[in-house]
Amino acid sequence: MGLEDFKAMVHRCSRCSYCKWIPFAHVKSWRFAKGCPSIEYHSFQSYSASGRLCISLALLEERISCFDEGLPDIVFKCMLDGCCDVACKVCRYDLEPLEVMRNLRFRLIDNGCFPIQDIPLIDNLRKEDNMMMARKADRANWAAGLSLKDLTTEKADVVLHVGCRLSFDEELWRIPQTAVTLLLDAGVDVGILGRDENCCGGRLYDMGYRGEFLKYAENNIDAWRNAGATTVVTTCSDCYHAFKRLYPEELHAPMNVLHITEFLEQLIAKGKIAFKKSLPLKITYHDPCHLGRRGEPYIPWEGRQKKIRGQILVYEPRKPRNNGACGVYDAPRNVLRSIPGIQLFEMERNREFAWCCGAGAGVRERYPEFSFWTAGERIEEAYATGAEALVSACPHCERNFLDALDQRGDSLKVFDVLDLVREAR
Ligand code: SF4
Ligand code: SF4
Repeated sequence: MGLEDFKAMVHRCSRCSYCKWIPFAHVKSWRFAKGCPSIEYHSFQSYSASGRLCISLALLEERISCFDEGLPDIVFKCMLDGCCDVACKVCRYDLEPLEVMRNLRFRLIDNGCFPIQDIPLIDNLRKEDNMMMARKADRANWAAGLSLKDLTTEKADVVLHVGCRLSFDEELWRIPQTAVTLLLDAGVDVGILGRDENCCGGRLYDMGYRGEFLKYAENNIDAWRNAGATTVVTTCSDCYHAFKRLYPEELHAPMNVLHITEFLEQLIAKGKIAFKKSLPLKITYHDPCHLGRRGEPYIPWEGRQKKIRGQILVYEPRKPRNNGACGVYDAPRNVLRSIPGIQLFEMERNREFAWCCGAGAGVRERYPEFSFWTAGERIEEAYATGAEALVSACPHCERNFLDALDQRGDSLKVFDVLDLVREAR
């Protein structure tokens, strides 16, 4: 599909602005009632989902061009976190603002309109197969000394995909290292692709580079098949979204994909992970967008759109409703609640209505100031719960929170779910 295919849908946007808020039934305070970081930060209508739908229509009707000054700034200063999409669908069953904004990005990138900050990132990606400005040769350094199957030469039931951030961010290496220890101790037949692991392509897709995404997706699927793996487990929510949602959608390649918290939930239920220590700690859990609302499974739809009396657009059969409700929310919470001593407090905006950490869709790399402001808003919300620590299940969220805290001179503790599991064993 291309942007043209959404023209009728774009006409249906009623400019109600509901997409700027979390659904009113879930609002607990004015302070944390907003859902869209982009409109909140920029305070200008074009920077909302509705504004980008208007821009899409103007492009389709050739009233503006991709090359107009300021257009890339508006299009790319958005995390594609999808809070707008979920809010819109409370009233509008099958309007897809997120899909439109995604295709708007593809249109700009295909026309060579990209933020200049992308140049070194994409250059390095093409040479080194990662999004971290790092060398491919260093990709498996995190696993040095671990007794793990090498899936380029051996076979295993489970392939552990750790992703670019965890492969190269040394401060976070403890997360995949803990995952490996837990899986091996539980007797799971697991291996890694090591230096030959590739970028999942998910972040590239969100940034607008669909062609590069497809290349990595095909390579990854081939590598897993060659390794004989029946299940892919990942420690990264960006990778999870790519594998769970984008690969079936774009390549019709369904895989058995689990986020590490889903796998741990199963192992704890089977008694293969037990806790010996109590961790007396008040925590709050941040739902990563790509594990939560954007991590819900892809449901294929085939049908046609038609207009009733030349006016009302309907889909036959009715489209599945992708409103974020089926993302991964309970597994990380169940793992955390099973740890003795942990007290979990919810932030006001949680599950499919969570505020983004600010790192998604290339915003951290392209517009760090906006990215850290967004993270700062979430940190304030975490403090409002009275928690002593902010816990997440995504290395991109954790890195963004850590850097934003550093900038603020702040010392709120940040953990991954795996950190607490390791500490309590
Ligand atoms: S995108 Fe949806 S919520 Fe936003 S203005 Fe349009 S119809 Fe309203
Ligand atoms: S994806 Fe996020 S930042 Fe972009 S318009 Fe929607 S809510 Fe705003």
